[in-house]
Amino acid sequence: MTDFVITAPPQVSIPVKDSSSKFPVRRVYCIGRNYADHAIEMGHDPDKEPPFFFQKDADNLVSDGVFPYPVQSNDVHHEVEMLAALKSGGRNISVNQALEHVYGYAVCLDMTRRDLQAVQKKMRRPWEIGKSFEASAPVGIITPVSENEHLSDALIELKVNGEVRQTGNLNQMIWKVAEMISYLSDYFELAAGDVILSGTPAGVGPVERGDKLCAHIDGLEDLHVSVV
Ligand code: MN
Repeated sequence: MTDFVITAPPQVSIPVKDSSSKFPVRRVYCIGRNYADHAIEMGHDPDKEPPFFFQKDADNLVSDGVFPYPVQSNDVHHEVEMLAALKSGGRNISVNQALEHVYGYAVCLDMTRRDLQAVQKKMRRPWEIGKSFEASAPVGIITPVSENEHLSDALIELKVNGEVRQTGNLNQMIWKVAEMISYLSDYFELAAGDVILSGTPAGVGPVERGDKLCAHIDGLEDLHVSVV
């Protein structure tokens, strides 16, 4: 066993449905503008752009149902997304074989400091301070593929205090999960423990302290999050 000079940070993990074992996380890839109606609401033409990705940090994932309103922002937005968790990886993975690497899926939130992100976009700087902050990726329970076929046609929805704010269908994704895995594997070496946040449908908007969020995808476990 390796001896460390400081206390080693804990392994980030996500709960798994009907299991006492957890899914260990390595990297967190997130796609931008993957639903046409969301791309349009953010002022972009969805037809002309190749996919692009940013990363969150593994320890941004939290599964305790609590989202502490972050510092340095007054405009924090919800983005409901499906998370795909990889059990294996590699380079140059073909679209046809990509889904063989998926362990399971979960509902996730890509919480965004929209005001900070807007400044970064305007200055053509990276998005980390808008996207990759503490607890910025509340995540639900992973449903293994063995219990549930690969999801490609299912309602995705977010309610805030019981009111529907975001709604869409996974079939509206511009880049499908298999295509995202294949594309990423051309640029990175994917590996077991990597997760991919697959983009958000239209209807993103601000949250306030005290809000109760319920994120839902047909076929997966709901994610309930309190903003504190
Ligand atoms: Mn997003």
